[in-house]
Amino acid sequence: MRVLLSNDDGVHAPGLAALAAAFPHDEVWVVAPDREQSATSHAISLHRPLRIVQVGERWFSVDGAPTDAIYLAVNHLLRGRPPDLVLSGVNHGPNLGNDVLYSGTVAAAMEGALLGVTAIAVSLAARAPFDFGAAAGFAAGLARSVAADPPATPTLFNVNVPAGPVKGYRLTRLGVRTYGNEVVEKQDPRGRSYFWIGGDASHGDIPGSDCNTVFDDGLVAVTPLHLDLTHDALLSGLGDFEIPGYRKEPAP
Ligand code: MN
Repeated sequence: MRVLLSNDDGVHAPGLAALAAAFPHDEVWVVAPDREQSATSHAISLHRPLRIVQVGERWFSVDGAPTDAIYLAVNHLLRGRPPDLVLSGVNHGPNLGNDVLYSGTVAAAMEGALLGVTAIAVSLAARAPFDFGAAAGFAAGLARSVAADPPATPTLFNVNVPAGPVKGYRLTRLGVRTYGNEVVEKQDPRGRSYFWIGGDASHGDIPGSDCNTVFDDGLVAVTPLHLDLTHDALLSGLGDFEIPGYRKEPAP
């Protein structure tokens, strides 16, 4: 199996090395940002050049975002020989519920899925000191299962693993995770204000959600995500919606 690995914690992150070590008998390619890019979401560098530096055998850094790394890997370094799977992580910290909208870890996997390769984002929902081995091992097990029976269309699996040995896993849906809407204002040495956003995270109590599964039940959460954000229920319920002064065309 040919696997492409990336992350948002940077090419030298221990979680990435642990993930690579979980595929000892496979053709592993690593293409990752040259520095921490956490919470950069799906940013893509369309207005500046990018450099690729080889840092090891089939191991490369890119001076850009996680999306840039996957784009360059699939469309340049691995052009004509696409990977069987893309894996992103192991992130140091969870990516649950709303986090998937901010996460560079999830974005790298999402870019893989957008480019036609089924992808797995894997995050360790723990605090330092991090031990990535169990999460990497679980991701490799999931990768083998998915590769043996691939989904009909490229799919994104978001995986979060609690600290310690894996007790079990659950197929989940996204929960709701928020950061307290906190804004801390301080003064810089030159007397100007700066702001620090994002307080302590908390999650809504939603049985079966990824948040509850990881934080309350201590199980691995595996959430399949699709990339079409269209609100189908609302779309079909908007039959009478009108904007005065504008002609409304029916759906083709
Ligand atoms: Mn990260």
